[in-house]
Amino acid sequence: MSSFSQNIVTYSPAYTIVPTYECFNRCSYCNFRTDPGQSPWLTLAEAKGILQQLQSQNVCEILILSGEVHPHSSKREAWLQRIYDLCALALKMGFLPHTNVGPLSFEEMRKLKNVNVSMGLMLEQLTPQLLDTVHRHAPSKIPEVRLQQLKWAGELQIPFTTGLLLGIGETENNWWETLAAISDLHQRYQHIQEVILQPHSPGSQQTFDAPPFDPHKLPFVIAKARQILPIDITIQIPPNLIQDQEWLLACIAAGARDLGGISPKDEVNPDYPHLQEQTLREILQPGGWELVPRLPVYPQFGSWLSEELGEGVKKYRLKMNSKDNSRT
Ligand code: SF4
Repeated sequence: MSSFSQNIVTYSPAYTIVPTYECFNRCSYCNFRTDPGQSPWLTLAEAKGILQQLQSQNVCEILILSGEVHPHSSKREAWLQRIYDLCALALKMGFLPHTNVGPLSFEEMRKLKNVNVSMGLMLEQLTPQLLDTVHRHAPSKIPEVRLQQLKWAGELQIPFTTGLLLGIGETENNWWETLAAISDLHQRYQHIQEVILQPHSPGSQQTFDAPPFDPHKLPFVIAKARQILPIDITIQIPPNLIQDQEWLLACIAAGARDLGGISPKDEVNPDYPHLQEQTLREILQPGGWELVPRLPVYPQFGSWLSEELGEGVKKYRLKMNSKDNSRT
């Protein structure tokens, strides 16, 4: 879906489920992780209880977001299976899962494709220099490992969301290099649906001592990203991390057209509550922008989905179309 030529800004009505907060990486800007063994894993029974409550609410996407168990850990297989089972449960209960759980093996990715309408992984920044600073203790953030994930997603025909984390010690040129790499991969596989531009926003748990990314720079980055990225990739910005309403409108005018998953809590940035739908509508309206819900998979990827996933998507599209018709 490209809403670029219309006055439409999209968002995904979502809820985030966290299988575990434990993570073997220690990114110094992280406000999410616990040490391995310190976060009990979410059980299927607990997840079912949460999902049952969501069935009566305006939620379509279940974002499965997890800390990472080391690829060589004896717990890795059980971790992946729990993620798979949570996705399968969400799907069975009528939701559309989107998983973002760090780098996976090719086989792990292939397995999760069966129960996800799309998947995601932030590329963050390609410069290896961050391995000496914020990623010193984060082997999952080796740039080649993450680029490989984007390639595999393309080979497996998985609709994919990626993005940049801005303001963690990189240079301006690093932004353009990272965006160019995403653009190249998309031109090869046609699989990137969105690129998130996420400003570093300090939280209460992190050890990285740096100011927030200057929100006034974001429109400039977005405008340049719009030039670098193919037009069928939507640029997404997280509205809870752009506190100034004028600058949120400036970001949209510069080319951002999606506000991501709006759920009760931003698990990655827990110090920054999500603005809810009505508030966002009121911010956008003076700029002439209409806020419209979307699914976690864009329409052009329909033929990449299994029959079961395709059926789930079709139900939501029908529901959304009937709502559109009742408005006219
Ligand atoms: S940012 Fe992600 S990979 Fe890094 S420590 Fe936090 S949860 Fe782990």
